[in-house]
Amino acid sequence: MAENLSFFQKVNQNFDKAARFTEYPQGLLDQIKICNNSCHFTFPIKRDDGTIQTIHGWRAEHSHHNLPTKGGLRYSTLVNEDEIVALAALMTYKCALVDVPFGGAKGGIQLDRNEYSESELERITRRYTYELIQKNYIGPGIDVPAPDFGTSENEMAWILDTYLTMSTDKLDAIACVTGKPIEQNGIQGRKEATGRGVVFGLEEACSYEDDMKQVGLDPGLPGKTVVLQGFGNVGYHAAKYLAEAEAIIIGIAETGGAIYNPEGLDFEKVAMFREETGSIRNYPDATFIENPNFSLELECDILIPAALENQLTAENAPHVKARIIGEAANGPTTTKADEILQERGALIIPDTYLNAGGVTVSYFEWLRNLSHVGFGRLARRFEESTYNAMFRAVEKATGYQFSDDERQTVHGADETDLVNSGLQDTMINAYQEIREIRLKHGRDVVDSRTAAFINAIHKIAQSYMQLGIFP
Ligand code: GLU
Repeated sequence: MAENLSFFQKVNQNFDKAARFTEYPQGLLDQIKICNNSCHFTFPIKRDDGTIQTIHGWRAEHSHHNLPTKGGLRYSTLVNEDEIVALAALMTYKCALVDVPFGGAKGGIQLDRNEYSESELERITRRYTYELIQKNYIGPGIDVPAPDFGTSENEMAWILDTYLTMSTDKLDAIACVTGKPIEQNGIQGRKEATGRGVVFGLEEACSYEDDMKQVGLDPGLPGKTVVLQGFGNVGYHAAKYLAEAEAIIIGIAETGGAIYNPEGLDFEKVAMFREETGSIRNYPDATFIENPNFSLELECDILIPAALENQLTAENAPHVKARIIGEAANGPTTTKADEILQERGALIIPDTYLNAGGVTVSYFEWLRNLSHVGFGRLARRFEESTYNAMFRAVEKATGYQFSDDERQTVHGADETDLVNSGLQDTMINAYQEIREIRLKHGRDVVDSRTAAFINAIHKIAQSYMQLGIFP
């Protein structure tokens, strides 16, 4: 199969493979697949040194079957129209898989953020937002951006402020963007959400004895060795929750090189070292690997690409030793690499599912913004007094006295508890659905990525049915 297809063509190839297992009319399948809207924005900015530069940005709204459309905004030199459309399409399937009632979208600005000052980035982000407003590409019920590669809560705060300034509907305007800072109507746990979702997903995938046997591993995450490619927001938080789950992180790769220690790396120390020195090079307790691509070929149980697309290719896939590939990035595996890895019996946990934690918690943030009430505000005290009443009843009936420590473990659910519980539930349910589809068709007939696409197609087709477009 050709490797030189565009990113969007590759996404559609995966879609077509899955569509063959459904019986929907071709016209409907074409409608699901096509990108509904996309826009290329160009605008000038004045650099700090007085020169003028043309900035290229895009926003694609892949599917309007549910509104708003939703997806991140990335800053990278690789951004182009095809990439943004492909990523928007992946957002459509991702949202469908985790029952988040949004269509897919994605935006991007073609730049290397390290080459711009903070105030230049602010001017670019605000001007881009202004372009979105002018073209009707942003709004709580239209299209809602979020952080992605190269952006963070700072850019989201500038987007919110620009939108608020220009909006006539001040009531719901705060829901025009998610991934906002907590103090600006963000939600607890959004920053951690994608990494945390990755670990909830891996935990679920590794819990099935049958599936683990197929790849020659024992069930459960504890003791499994992991290599991470990418140590940004997603990679860092994945490492954090993997360590909590007692998996052993033995390799971390960044663009400038990788570090490896088969005994395990302390992710927190690595992060601190990078903070102090600017890179992971010369990190003391590890071997430094100059070419970060070699990290993909390290001996490990789980390989987690958590950076950009097209990392696992026809060239390196034959050398990949990991038994499980957890796609924390969007589109990290090329079609050819996918085939090679499947042939070698690896379990690929697909991006459309595994990195859906971010958009899931974005959905919670959007709901919170529209409801204008923090999660837990209504029920927390009530739950707490119910639990305390139960404690007192048990003490009275048994004569046992609960200690202060025991009492403190019980509390009414606050926002963090509810976000994590909703995220975990979402990741477990979505995996079970994918797994069931896979088993129904036969493990050797349908891989996890295809099963995920089949499920997404069913769910999107159902939405079209509800819209009355397709009887
Ligand atoms: N950028 C994230 C993604 O690719 C999150 C999108 C969102 O929260 O809207 O899934």
